[in-house]
Amino acid sequence: MGNVSKAQPRVPLSVMRASGRSPSSVAELDATGRVLVVGAGGVGNVVVRKCSRSPEIFTDICLASRTKEKCDRIAADLVRPIQTEQIDADNVPALVNLICAFKPSLVVNVALPYQDLRIMDACLATSVDYLDTANYEPPNVAKFEYKWQWAYHKRFKDAGVMALLGCGFDPGVTNVFTAWALKHHFDEIHELDIIDCNAAYNGHPFATNFNPEINIREVTAKGRFYENGGWVETPPLSVHQPFEFPSGIGSREIYLMYHEELESLARHIPGLKRARFWMTFSDNYLKHLEVLRNVGMTRIDPVNYNGTKIVPLQFLKMLLPDPSQLGRQTKGKTCIGCWIKGVKDGKTKRYCVYNICDHQKCYREVKSQAISYTTGVPAVIGAMLMVDGAWRRPGVWNMEQLDPDPFMEKLNLYGLPWTEKIL
Ligand code: NDP
Repeated sequence: MGNVSKAQPRVPLSVMRASGRSPSSVAELDATGRVLVVGAGGVGNVVVRKCSRSPEIFTDICLASRTKEKCDRIAADLVRPIQTEQIDADNVPALVNLICAFKPSLVVNVALPYQDLRIMDACLATSVDYLDTANYEPPNVAKFEYKWQWAYHKRFKDAGVMALLGCGFDPGVTNVFTAWALKHHFDEIHELDIIDCNAAYNGHPFATNFNPEINIREVTAKGRFYENGGWVETPPLSVHQPFEFPSGIGSREIYLMYHEELESLARHIPGLKRARFWMTFSDNYLKHLEVLRNVGMTRIDPVNYNGTKIVPLQFLKMLLPDPSQLGRQTKGKTCIGCWIKGVKDGKTKRYCVYNICDHQKCYREVKSQAISYTTGVPAVIGAMLMVDGAWRRPGVWNMEQLDPDPFMEKLNLYGLPWTEKIL
């Protein structure tokens, strides 16, 4: 990859202060790794539980969210005390105050994609590093793109602050898998298929496995894939095929969707000719989704109901099961990975790399189902690599732009072991 840059060593705040340098001119960092986690949902729960078990890296943790009780419930069940706060992450001055009071070295944003830009603004204003797991989405248009966050690159770089984007599983680990494949297995990657399978049952006729509003916006969008330098659009969920999954999961129907990592991978992986994203859905899920769409319940524009403006999808979210509460009853496995075709030493090569994650095993470890787990653990690993300096560099970065090796090593150590195969 052409644009892998060298990591910059962290500058401890104490050293900076002793040398008389202004903290705001370099990232205002403290080498101890105080971390502010924003968002006390399913993913936030996993992030905080995992961080709390690594006190040598994350010495102090603050969990802040719109509903403080949710933070307190998580905090009450941890191995060590953490701070909790109420915050509206759409309010930049309030975020700045919280950051100035807690003095984190890093803000982990696991609220909703709507908050990304405001939290980045607050991080810039206070010179504190930033990490998220999903790219910015304007609330009133179901459209996610990196352009808004990439536009912060120069400002972050000039301020000596780092933003790591999309550090969940997909996006996140799938970007790192691709970078790893390119570094260790290919001279050029030509075809990339990212495949996400949730082979699980949770007892509900219809439930999403992460935030229902974000999930349904994503699934009902047009399919889109990258081919020969351009983008091809398909009607929502219209392209599908059976796929044979490993580890006893067997054959499942996979559906072509648009997913945000395609945009950054198409930009950062040289030689890529085609990149697609696929996801499995049960017939039951698709049947419910079709009916909900047909009757207008997935609309994101406000409708007038008895003089009150209601967004149907937000109302639907209130009725659906809370994904963060599905851990106990969700049984089965996820399989998420990259199936790749490319060239090595002049010969065509096919290769895959994937993780299998068991829902009940996750529940036993962190009281969560595997979707929140597979998102939260990579966020913690990304945070570790920023805090210890291995991945730290000023600017706004996607995961595939950084050295995949330390991240791949930590996946095996922190609960998401991976398997690779030459096909
Ligand atoms: P949840 O809905 O469970 O949690 C989101 C939390 O953010 C809620 O506790 C909510 O508070 C809080 N929140 C929302 N708005 C604000 C605000 N304005 N200020 C402060 N807090 C706010 O979502 P998940 O945990 O399932 O998902 C979290 C993030 O992870 C999402 O961005 C999602 O897209 C992303 N994700 C990424 C994946 C990946 O692999 N990359 C996979 C799955 C999810 P309250 O409850 O009070 O409303």
